[in-house]
Amino acid sequence: MGTLQNGSIRLFRFAGIQVYLHWSWFLVAAYSISERRDRYHELFYALAEYLALFAIVLLHEFGHSLACRQVGGRSDQIVLWPLGGIAFVQPPHRPGAMLWSIAAGPLVNVALLPVFWWFWGWAEGTSLAATSPDLPRFGAAVFWINAGLLIFNILPVYPLDGGQIVQSLLWYVIGYGRSLYVASVLGFAGVAGIVALSYYLDPESLWTIVIAVFLGSRCWQSFKHARGRLAFEKRPRNSLYACPACRASPISGLAIRCGSCGQPFDPYASDGRCPACGAVHPDIRCLDCGEMRPIEAWRR
Ligand SMILES: [Zn+2]
Ligand SMILES: [Zn+2]
Ligand SMILES: [Zn+2]
Repeated sequence: MGTLQNGSIRLFRFAGIQVYLHWSWFLVAAYSISERRDRYHELFYALAEYLALFAIVLLHEFGHSLACRQVGGRSDQIVLWPLGGIAFVQPPHRPGAMLWSIAAGPLVNVALLPVFWWFWGWAEGTSLAATSPDLPRFGAAVFWINAGLLIFNILPVYPLDGGQIVQSLLWYVIGYGRSLYVASVLGFAGVAGIVALSYYLDPESLWTIVIAVFLGSRCWQSFKHARGRLAFEKRPRNSLYACPACRASPISGLAIRCGSCGQPFDPYASDGRCPACGAVHPDIRCLDCGEMRPIEAWRR
């Protein structure tokens, strides 16, 4: 994902979160604004509608980032690009923390529904509408942009928010690896469904292909990751130890490479001391959740 920040410009920083704008946004903006131009008398409203889309996407991503930080996770950047926004979130490895970090994005759109409903009503009724017939049209457009983003995002298709919500709910019941496996398989079915539906609605839409390729490749990555996780989770565990962060026991006979001499050794069997060179490794990384914790804290 690191490649997206290349070719992006820094917009601003808020609450410790840096917002970037990818250059390709401008290409699509020029196209999208010219497309909107036909719907309005004034260019101002075509511009305003596109900027409103941008603002709504940004608020949605801030929902993810702030919720992730609230539960103790890491999230310090948001990248906006033509297919929307990406908040880089690393919630703690717990289903509840993941669920809240994902659900908070669409919940922002839910909270915006009454706001834009009110604005639409105001735009229809105000005396300004007599001189500026674009205003009520703009009010309706903004309402439907927000509603459309909400509906699209909560489709239960991994890796859309809805699919990730399904995955975190399954995680409670069948564990992380299997929940990811089931969610990515459901994701393939969902991508096929989206392609079929949007082909039916508009056979010439280029967006269908772009979105299907994007979602399909994310699904495939998750599927491969899920298979790796399942194989990892099946390996026998050393029940004398447990990760202080996620409570998972480490793999028995685990071999990590010593940072000083390069020899592989089992940090749990040797209290974090490399038998070859004697170097002490104070913190051991959990392979289940990625947290680093001192060896004493791992002992049950
Ligand atoms: Zn989202
Ligand atoms: Zn852990
Ligand atoms: Zn060593």
